[in-house]
Amino acid sequence: MKITRILAYRLDLPLKEGRYGFSGGRSIRGYDSTVVRIETDSGVVGFGEVCPLGPAYLPAYAQGVRAGIAELGPHLIGHDPTELGVMTGLMDRHLKGHPYVKSPIDMACWDILGKVAGLPLSTLLGGRQGGAVQCYRAISQDTPERMTESVAFYRADGYRRYQLKVGSDVATDIARIEMVAAGLQPGEVLVADANTGWLSHEAARVVHAIRGLDIYVEQPCLGFEENLEIRRRTHHPFVLDESIDSVAALLRAHHARAMDAINIKISKYGGLTIARQMRDMCVAMGIAMTIEDSGGGDIATAAIAHLAHSTPEAFRFNCSDCNSYVALDIAEGAPRRVDGMIEAPSGAGLGVSPDMKLLGEPVISIQ
Ligand code: MG
Repeated sequence: MKITRILAYRLDLPLKEGRYGFSGGRSIRGYDSTVVRIETDSGVVGFGEVCPLGPAYLPAYAQGVRAGIAELGPHLIGHDPTELGVMTGLMDRHLKGHPYVKSPIDMACWDILGKVAGLPLSTLLGGRQGGAVQCYRAISQDTPERMTESVAFYRADGYRRYQLKVGSDVATDIARIEMVAAGLQPGEVLVADANTGWLSHEAARVVHAIRGLDIYVEQPCLGFEENLEIRRRTHHPFVLDESIDSVAALLRAHHARAMDAINIKISKYGGLTIARQMRDMCVAMGIAMTIEDSGGGDIATAAIAHLAHSTPEAFRFNCSDCNSYVALDIAEGAPRRVDGMIEAPSGAGLGVSPDMKLLGEPVISIQ
């Protein structure tokens, strides 16, 4: 089988909340997502999606996705998309770094492999493990009162796990965490995610102030050493996200006992191939995971659901249903959250059929 054509579509996905704010005054007003369609000489077609959370979250940006695909695409024509390891090597040889560019291509190749095999990706990624996957809801940064209201709103919508966006001034962040924690119900899980927003003296004050609360602390500082220092000063279970950007970073952090859980964002690692590798290493090393991506709609959410559903239940700390943050459905068969949970689609490959009319004209076409 050979790749004959690579198409990319730009998709503006409006946020249901209108805005999403996180540390450092950063915010986005919508998702600028890119959908990739890979066509083959056998007629099988695969889809992938990547959506950076604006240009200032990870070293990734939406225009960069499209520029990278235009750069990389011509090197992939004529190659077999079902040979995932070969494809990964090929992409790394022709474009150094830029894993987010490679992610939707890798995802589309997995979709093709699943369709050729007649199996859902959850089977190819290890097999469906247990029941539906619990999702968390990210609570956009706002006043303590509004964030508490937001948690109540999403509780009524079925969620039981909340990730508070903190990482601004210390006093306000402490108030946010304390106010939300005071209203938690039995069985609920709360994470305070600073998204690298605190310096170590600020993080030290926050973890000291909230020391009596049953709450997870996520990525308080930017640098690995600062995070490790805070980890050693607190008894809170500790999550690393932005710091774990590679296999090497995971191994180093595990060796230092720097965290209890990590966030696996598929595009941070260049697609499902390496994300699965990271997932399997975490299982082997006893590290729990949040399985997610930086954003996206139905296609990205399907990929997340397949990876999450094929992860042993004990290791599934959280999962993100990105598509429920946006006001536009783009694919039939995509996971839809029920009672705060999603399931991997049962169809072959990703198990989704994108609405080609909605995608419109491609912004890139390589053949
Ligand atoms: Mg995070």
